[in-house]
Amino acid sequence: MSIGQGCSRTADRVSLTHRAWVEVDLEAIRHNIATIRRLLKPSTQLMSVVKADGYGHGAVAVARTALSAGASWLAVATVEEGISLRMAGIEAPILLFGPVICTEEIDALAEHRLQPTVCSLDQARRFSEAGLGPIPIHLKVDTGMSRLGVSWHEAQDLLSAIRVLPDVSVVSLYSHLATADAVDPTTAMEQFTRFAKLVDTLQRQGRRPPLVHLANSAATLTFPDTHFDLVRIGLAQYGLYPSSHLQAVVALRPALALKAKIVFVKTVPPGTGVSYGHTFRTARRTRLATVSIGYGDGISRALSNGIDFLVRGRRARQVGTITMDQCLIDITDVPEASDGDVATLLGQDGGERISIAEWAARLETIPYEILTALSPRLPRIFCQA
Ligand SMILES: *Cc1c(COP(=O)(O)O)cnc(C)c1O
Repeated sequence: MSIGQGCSRTADRVSLTHRAWVEVDLEAIRHNIATIRRLLKPSTQLMSVVKADGYGHGAVAVARTALSAGASWLAVATVEEGISLRMAGIEAPILLFGPVICTEEIDALAEHRLQPTVCSLDQARRFSEAGLGPIPIHLKVDTGMSRLGVSWHEAQDLLSAIRVLPDVSVVSLYSHLATADAVDPTTAMEQFTRFAKLVDTLQRQGRRPPLVHLANSAATLTFPDTHFDLVRIGLAQYGLYPSSHLQAVVALRPALALKAKIVFVKTVPPGTGVSYGHTFRTARRTRLATVSIGYGDGISRALSNGIDFLVRGRRARQVGTITMDQCLIDITDVPEASDGDVATLLGQDGGERISIAEWAARLETIPYEILTALSPRLPRIFCQA
Protein backbone atom coordinates (compact mmCIF):
# COMPACT_ATOMS: atom_id res chain seq x y z
CA MET A 1 0.00 0.00 0.00
CA SER A 2 1.27 3.47 -0.83
CA ILE A 3 0.01 5.02 2.38
CA GLY A 4 0.86 8.71 2.57
CA GLN A 5 3.38 8.78 -0.27
CA GLY A 6 1.43 11.17 -2.47
CA CYS A 7 3.70 14.13 -1.79
CA SER A 8 6.91 12.45 -2.88
CA ARG A 9 7.98 15.15 -5.33
CA THR A 10 6.93 18.23 -3.41
CA ALA A 11 10.40 18.84 -2.01
CA ASP A 12 11.15 20.33 -5.46
CA ARG A 13 8.32 22.79 -5.02
CA VAL A 14 9.30 23.98 -1.57
CA SER A 15 10.59 27.49 -1.91
CA LEU A 16 14.13 28.00 -0.73
CA THR A 17 12.84 30.38 1.89
CA HIS A 18 10.74 27.71 3.57
CA ARG A 19 12.55 26.50 6.64
CA ALA A 20 9.61 24.40 7.83
CA TRP A 21 6.29 23.55 6.23
CA VAL A 22 3.19 21.36 6.16
CA GLU A 23 2.56 19.22 3.10
CA VAL A 24 -1.02 18.31 2.34
CA ASP A 25 -1.74 15.45 -0.02
CA LEU A 26 -5.09 16.36 -1.53
CA GLU A 27 -5.21 13.04 -3.35
CA ALA A 28 -5.27 11.32 0.05
CA ILE A 29 -8.26 13.46 1.06
CA ARG A 30 -10.01 12.53 -2.17
CA HIS A 31 -9.30 8.85 -1.45
CA ASN A 32 -10.59 9.15 2.12
CA ILE A 33 -13.84 10.85 1.07
CA ALA A 34 -14.42 8.21 -1.62
CA THR A 35 -13.65 5.43 0.86
CA ILE A 36 -16.07 6.83 3.45
CA ARG A 37 -18.75 7.39 0.78
CA ARG A 38 -18.66 3.66 0.06
CA LEU A 39 -19.83 3.01 3.65
CA LEU A 40 -22.91 5.19 3.10
CA LYS A 41 -26.23 4.60 1.39
CA PRO A 42 -26.27 6.51 -1.92
CA SER A 43 -28.90 8.89 -0.52
CA THR A 44 -26.83 9.81 2.55
CA GLN A 45 -25.02 13.10 2.15
CA LEU A 46 -21.50 13.79 3.36
CA MET A 47 -20.61 17.03 5.17
CA SER A 48 -16.91 17.89 5.13
CA VAL A 49 -15.93 19.49 8.45
CA VAL A 50 -13.27 22.14 7.80
CA LYS A 51 -13.31 24.08 11.08
CA ALA A 52 -9.99 25.30 12.54
CA ASP A 53 -8.54 25.79 9.04
CA GLY A 54 -9.46 22.29 7.97
CA TYR A 55 -7.91 20.73 11.09
CA GLY A 56 -4.71 22.58 10.16
CA HIS A 57 -4.67 21.31 6.56
CA GLY A 58 -5.97 24.51 4.92
CA ALA A 59 -9.76 24.85 4.84
CA VAL A 60 -10.20 26.15 1.29
CA ALA A 61 -8.12 23.46 -0.40
CA VAL A 62 -9.70 20.71 1.71
CA ALA A 63 -13.22 22.01 1.04
CA ARG A 64 -12.69 22.15 -2.73
CA THR A 65 -11.20 18.66 -2.75
CA ALA A 66 -13.93 17.18 -0.56
CA LEU A 67 -16.69 18.75 -2.67
CA SER A 68 -15.18 17.36 -5.85
CA ALA A 69 -14.82 13.92 -4.21
CA GLY A 70 -18.42 13.51 -3.10
CA ALA A 71 -19.14 15.86 -0.18
CA SER A 72 -22.16 18.13 -0.63
CA TRP A 73 -22.03 20.18 2.59
CA LEU A 74 -19.31 22.01 4.55
CA ALA A 75 -19.18 22.83 8.24
CA VAL A 76 -17.19 25.43 10.15
CA ALA A 77 -17.11 26.63 13.76
CA THR A 78 -17.07 30.40 13.31
CA VAL A 79 -18.55 33.07 11.06
CA GLU A 80 -15.03 34.13 10.01
CA GLU A 81 -14.21 30.59 8.89
CA GLY A 82 -17.38 30.53 6.80
CA ILE A 83 -16.65 33.92 5.24
CA SER A 84 -13.17 32.84 4.16
CA LEU A 85 -14.69 29.88 2.28
CA ARG A 86 -17.16 32.22 0.53
CA MET A 87 -14.34 34.68 -0.28
CA ALA A 88 -12.56 31.82 -2.02
CA GLY A 89 -15.62 31.38 -4.21
CA ILE A 90 -16.98 28.24 -2.59
CA GLU A 91 -20.75 28.00 -3.15
CA ALA A 92 -21.72 24.81 -1.27
CA PRO A 93 -24.07 25.08 1.73
CA ILE A 94 -22.13 25.80 4.93
CA LEU A 95 -23.32 24.88 8.41
CA LEU A 96 -22.01 26.88 11.32
CA PHE A 97 -21.58 24.65 14.39
CA GLY A 98 -21.03 27.43 16.89
CA PRO A 99 -23.91 29.55 18.16
CA VAL A 100 -24.22 33.08 16.83
CA ILE A 101 -25.39 35.64 19.36
CA CYS A 102 -24.54 39.16 18.29
CA THR A 103 -26.30 41.25 15.64
CA GLU A 104 -23.16 41.95 13.63
CA GLU A 105 -22.59 38.23 13.29
CA ILE A 106 -26.17 37.69 12.15
CA ASP A 107 -25.77 40.30 9.41
CA ALA A 108 -22.48 38.78 8.25
CA LEU A 109 -23.94 35.31 8.35
CA ALA A 110 -26.92 36.26 6.20
CA GLU A 111 -24.77 38.20 3.76
CA HIS A 112 -22.49 35.20 3.23
CA ARG A 113 -25.27 32.61 3.27
CA LEU A 114 -23.95 30.69 6.28
CA GLN A 115 -26.49 28.47 7.99
CA PRO A 116 -26.58 28.80 11.77
CA THR A 117 -27.07 26.28 14.55
CA VAL A 118 -29.94 27.18 16.86
CA CYS A 119 -30.40 25.78 20.39
CA SER A 120 -33.20 27.93 21.84
CA LEU A 121 -36.30 29.95 20.97
CA ASP A 122 -34.43 33.07 21.94
CA GLN A 123 -31.71 32.38 19.36
CA ALA A 124 -34.28 31.55 16.68
CA ARG A 125 -36.10 34.84 17.41
CA ARG A 126 -32.95 36.84 16.82
CA PHE A 127 -32.70 35.46 13.29
CA SER A 128 -36.40 35.96 12.74
CA GLU A 129 -36.35 39.53 14.01
CA ALA A 130 -33.31 40.43 11.93
CA GLY A 131 -35.73 40.42 8.98
CA LEU A 132 -33.02 39.34 6.57
CA GLY A 133 -35.22 37.04 4.54
CA PRO A 134 -35.74 33.37 5.18
CA ILE A 135 -32.67 32.08 7.07
CA PRO A 136 -32.21 28.30 7.01
CA ILE A 137 -31.49 27.17 10.57
CA HIS A 138 -30.30 23.89 12.04
CA LEU A 139 -31.86 22.85 15.31
CA LYS A 140 -29.36 21.25 17.66
CA VAL A 141 -30.59 18.75 20.20
CA ASP A 142 -28.61 17.70 23.26
CA THR A 143 -28.96 13.94 23.64
CA GLY A 144 -26.11 13.53 26.11
CA MET A 145 -23.09 15.59 25.10
CA SER A 146 -24.30 18.39 27.41
CA ARG A 147 -22.52 21.07 25.39
CA LEU A 148 -24.83 22.77 22.87
CA GLY A 149 -28.44 22.06 22.08
CA VAL A 150 -31.94 21.99 23.47
CA SER A 151 -32.55 18.99 25.69
CA TRP A 152 -34.09 16.06 23.80
CA HIS A 153 -37.13 16.29 26.14
CA GLU A 154 -37.86 19.83 24.98
CA ALA A 155 -37.01 19.55 21.30
CA GLN A 156 -40.59 18.97 20.10
CA ASP A 157 -41.91 22.04 21.90
CA LEU A 158 -39.06 24.18 20.60
CA LEU A 159 -39.67 23.00 17.07
CA SER A 160 -43.36 23.94 17.36
CA ALA A 161 -42.48 27.39 18.69
CA ILE A 162 -39.93 28.03 15.93
CA ARG A 163 -42.33 26.90 13.20
CA VAL A 164 -44.52 29.96 13.68
CA LEU A 165 -41.66 32.46 13.48
CA PRO A 166 -41.35 34.37 10.19
CA ASP A 167 -38.09 34.44 8.21
CA VAL A 168 -36.55 31.26 9.63
CA SER A 169 -36.96 27.72 8.38
CA VAL A 170 -35.69 24.61 10.11
CA VAL A 171 -33.72 22.68 7.50
CA SER A 172 -32.12 20.19 9.84
CA LEU A 173 -32.31 18.56 13.21
CA TYR A 174 -29.04 17.30 14.63
CA SER A 175 -27.21 16.06 17.67
CA HIS A 176 -23.61 15.20 18.56
CA LEU A 177 -22.21 12.08 20.20
CA ALA A 178 -19.93 12.30 23.23
CA THR A 179 -18.37 8.83 23.11
CA ALA A 180 -18.59 7.55 19.51
CA ASP A 181 -14.86 6.77 19.56
CA ALA A 182 -15.06 4.59 22.68
CA VAL A 183 -14.76 0.81 22.42
CA ASP A 184 -17.82 0.44 24.65
CA PRO A 185 -20.86 1.51 22.60
CA THR A 186 -23.29 1.81 25.54
CA THR A 187 -23.37 5.59 25.92
CA ALA A 188 -23.38 6.28 22.18
CA MET A 189 -26.28 3.83 21.76
CA GLU A 190 -28.18 5.61 24.52
CA GLN A 191 -27.75 8.94 22.71
CA PHE A 192 -28.68 7.30 19.42
CA THR A 193 -31.86 5.85 20.93
CA ARG A 194 -32.96 9.22 22.33
CA PHE A 195 -32.34 10.88 18.98
CA ALA A 196 -33.97 8.14 16.90
CA LYS A 197 -37.11 8.23 19.07
CA LEU A 198 -37.41 11.97 18.61
CA VAL A 199 -36.96 11.63 14.84
CA ASP A 200 -39.60 8.86 14.74
CA THR A 201 -42.10 10.97 16.64
CA LEU A 202 -41.57 13.95 14.36
CA GLN A 203 -41.87 11.71 11.33
CA ARG A 204 -45.24 10.35 12.55
CA GLN A 205 -46.43 13.89 13.17
CA GLY A 206 -45.39 14.83 9.64
CA ARG A 207 -42.91 17.49 10.80
CA ARG A 208 -39.55 15.81 10.44
CA PRO A 209 -37.09 18.45 9.12
CA PRO A 210 -35.68 17.72 5.65
CA LEU A 211 -32.30 16.69 7.08
CA VAL A 212 -31.54 14.68 10.20
CA HIS A 213 -27.94 13.99 11.26
CA LEU A 214 -25.96 12.60 14.17
CA ALA A 215 -22.74 10.86 13.10
CA ASN A 216 -19.20 12.25 13.35
CA SER A 217 -16.25 10.29 11.89
CA ALA A 218 -16.20 7.63 14.61
CA ALA A 219 -19.94 6.92 14.44
CA THR A 220 -19.86 6.90 10.64
CA LEU A 221 -17.19 4.19 10.70
CA THR A 222 -18.83 2.05 13.37
CA PHE A 223 -22.61 2.63 13.66
CA PRO A 224 -24.37 2.61 10.26
CA ASP A 225 -27.69 3.24 12.06
CA THR A 226 -26.43 6.72 12.97
CA HIS A 227 -25.98 7.80 9.34
CA PHE A 228 -29.55 9.13 8.86
CA ASP A 229 -29.58 11.71 5.98
CA LEU A 230 -26.07 13.09 6.37
CA VAL A 231 -22.78 12.34 8.13
CA ARG A 232 -20.41 15.00 9.45
CA ILE A 233 -16.87 13.93 8.61
CA GLY A 234 -13.90 15.69 10.16
CA LEU A 235 -10.87 13.68 11.24
CA ALA A 236 -11.45 10.69 8.96
CA GLN A 237 -11.29 12.77 5.78
CA TYR A 238 -7.78 13.80 6.81
CA GLY A 239 -6.87 10.11 6.96
CA LEU A 240 -6.74 9.79 10.72
CA TYR A 241 -8.72 7.67 13.17
CA PRO A 242 -10.50 9.15 16.20
CA SER A 243 -9.38 6.06 18.07
CA SER A 244 -6.97 3.26 17.15
CA HIS A 245 -9.54 0.44 17.23
CA LEU A 246 -11.25 2.09 14.24
CA GLN A 247 -8.26 1.33 11.99
CA ALA A 248 -9.73 -2.08 11.28
CA VAL A 249 -12.82 -0.58 9.63
CA VAL A 250 -11.35 1.22 6.60
CA ALA A 251 -7.92 1.99 5.17
CA LEU A 252 -7.55 5.76 5.24
CA ARG A 253 -4.51 7.69 4.05
CA PRO A 254 -3.04 10.44 6.25
CA ALA A 255 -2.96 13.64 4.22
CA LEU A 256 -0.58 15.72 6.29
CA ALA A 257 3.20 15.65 6.56
CA LEU A 258 5.35 18.01 8.61
CA LYS A 259 8.86 18.79 7.41
CA ALA A 260 11.74 21.14 8.19
CA LYS A 261 15.26 21.72 6.95
CA ILE A 262 18.50 20.86 8.64
CA VAL A 263 20.28 24.21 8.77
CA PHE A 264 23.48 23.37 10.65
CA VAL A 265 25.51 20.24 11.47
CA LYS A 266 28.36 19.82 13.92
CA THR A 267 30.15 17.06 15.80
CA VAL A 268 30.49 17.32 19.59
CA PRO A 269 32.41 15.19 22.12
CA PRO A 270 30.82 12.85 24.69
CA GLY A 271 29.43 14.67 27.74
CA THR A 272 28.25 17.75 25.80
CA GLY A 273 25.12 19.43 27.19
CA VAL A 274 22.53 20.16 24.51
CA SER A 275 20.01 23.07 24.26
CA TYR A 276 18.26 25.01 27.06
CA GLY A 277 18.61 23.46 30.48
CA HIS A 278 20.96 20.78 29.15
CA THR A 279 18.11 18.25 29.41
CA PHE A 280 20.21 16.00 27.17
CA ARG A 281 23.92 15.23 27.44
CA THR A 282 25.73 13.26 24.73
CA ALA A 283 26.95 9.79 25.71
CA ARG A 284 29.21 9.45 22.68
CA ARG A 285 30.90 11.55 20.04
CA THR A 286 27.75 12.86 18.38
CA ARG A 287 26.79 14.48 15.09
CA LEU A 288 24.15 17.02 15.99
CA ALA A 289 21.88 18.57 13.40
CA THR A 290 19.96 21.78 14.05
CA VAL A 291 16.51 21.61 12.45
CA SER A 292 14.64 24.85 11.75
CA ILE A 293 11.36 24.16 13.50
CA GLY A 294 10.30 24.68 17.11
CA TYR A 295 7.41 25.21 19.47
CA GLY A 296 6.74 28.56 17.77
CA ASP A 297 5.55 26.44 14.84
CA GLY A 298 3.11 24.58 17.06
CA ILE A 299 5.07 21.46 17.90
CA SER A 300 4.75 20.91 21.60
CA ARG A 301 7.80 21.52 23.76
CA ALA A 302 6.58 18.54 25.81
CA LEU A 303 7.81 16.32 22.95
CA SER A 304 11.44 17.26 23.81
CA ASN A 305 13.72 14.21 24.03
CA GLY A 306 10.75 11.97 23.22
CA ILE A 307 10.39 11.70 19.43
CA ASP A 308 12.28 10.76 16.28
CA PHE A 309 12.59 12.67 13.00
CA LEU A 310 13.20 10.93 9.68
CA VAL A 311 16.33 11.87 7.76
CA ARG A 312 17.24 10.09 4.53
CA GLY A 313 14.69 7.39 5.34
CA ARG A 314 16.05 6.65 8.80
CA ARG A 315 15.00 7.56 12.32
CA ALA A 316 17.08 10.14 14.18
CA ARG A 317 16.35 10.94 17.84
CA GLN A 318 15.31 14.44 18.76
CA VAL A 319 17.61 15.51 21.62
CA GLY A 320 17.57 18.40 24.08
CA THR A 321 14.78 20.85 24.76
CA ILE A 322 12.79 21.99 21.71
CA THR A 323 13.23 25.77 21.41
CA MET A 324 10.95 28.34 19.80
CA ASP A 325 12.38 28.20 16.27
CA GLN A 326 14.80 25.29 16.29
CA CYS A 327 15.52 21.93 17.75
CA LEU A 328 18.26 19.31 17.57
CA ILE A 329 18.52 15.76 16.35
CA ASP A 330 21.24 13.15 16.68
CA ILE A 331 22.33 12.14 13.16
CA THR A 332 25.42 10.17 14.18
CA ASP A 333 23.89 7.06 12.60
CA VAL A 334 22.91 8.86 9.39
CA PRO A 335 26.46 9.84 8.35
CA GLU A 336 25.49 11.01 4.85
CA ALA A 337 23.01 13.59 6.24
CA SER A 338 24.04 17.21 5.84
CA ASP A 339 22.70 20.73 6.07
CA GLY A 340 20.00 21.45 3.51
CA ASP A 341 18.52 17.97 4.03
CA VAL A 342 14.83 17.75 4.78
CA ALA A 343 13.84 16.22 8.11
CA THR A 344 10.37 14.67 8.32
CA LEU A 345 8.67 15.11 11.69
CA LEU A 346 5.34 13.61 10.64
CA GLY A 347 4.78 11.50 7.57
CA GLN A 348 6.76 9.13 5.42
CA ASP A 349 10.37 9.07 4.24
CA GLY A 350 11.49 5.94 2.42
CA GLY A 351 10.22 2.92 4.30
CA GLU A 352 9.80 4.74 7.61
CA ARG A 353 6.75 6.66 8.81
CA ILE A 354 6.02 8.73 11.90
CA SER A 355 2.33 8.99 12.67
CA ILE A 356 0.37 11.66 14.48
CA ALA A 357 -0.91 8.84 16.69
CA GLU A 358 2.69 8.38 17.92
CA TRP A 359 2.83 12.04 19.02
CA ALA A 360 -0.67 11.87 20.48
CA ALA A 361 0.30 8.89 22.64
CA ARG A 362 3.45 10.67 23.76
CA LEU A 363 1.53 13.84 24.69
CA GLU A 364 -1.47 11.96 26.12
CA THR A 365 -3.73 13.85 23.77
CA ILE A 366 -5.71 13.26 20.59
CA PRO A 367 -4.66 13.81 16.95
CA TYR A 368 -7.13 16.71 16.70
CA GLU A 369 -5.13 18.83 19.14
CA ILE A 370 -1.80 18.16 17.43
CA LEU A 371 -3.19 19.14 14.01
CA THR A 372 -4.91 22.31 15.12
CA ALA A 373 -1.84 23.45 17.07
CA LEU A 374 0.29 23.61 13.89
CA SER A 375 0.96 27.31 13.58
CA PRO A 376 0.00 29.62 10.69
CA ARG A 377 3.75 30.31 10.46
CA LEU A 378 4.08 26.98 8.66
CA PRO A 379 3.22 27.39 4.97
CA ARG A 380 0.80 24.75 3.66
CA ILE A 381 2.00 23.16 0.45
CA PHE A 382 -0.63 21.24 -1.50
CA CYS A 383 -0.04 18.39 -3.84
CA GLN A 384 -2.40 16.48 -6.09
CA ALA A 385 -1.27 13.08 -7.34
C1 LIG B 1 -16.03 18.75 14.89
C2 LIG B 1 -17.39 18.20 14.76
C3 LIG B 1 -17.63 17.07 13.94
C4 LIG B 1 -16.52 16.28 13.28
O1 LIG B 1 -15.94 15.41 14.21
P1 LIG B 1 -14.84 14.33 13.75
O2 LIG B 1 -14.65 13.48 14.94
O3 LIG B 1 -13.63 15.11 13.40
O4 LIG B 1 -15.43 13.62 12.58
C5 LIG B 1 -18.93 16.69 13.76
N1 LIG B 1 -19.96 17.33 14.37
C6 LIG B 1 -19.76 18.38 15.18
C7 LIG B 1 -20.92 19.05 15.83
C8 LIG B 1 -18.47 18.85 15.41
O5 LIG B 1 -18.28 19.90 16.23
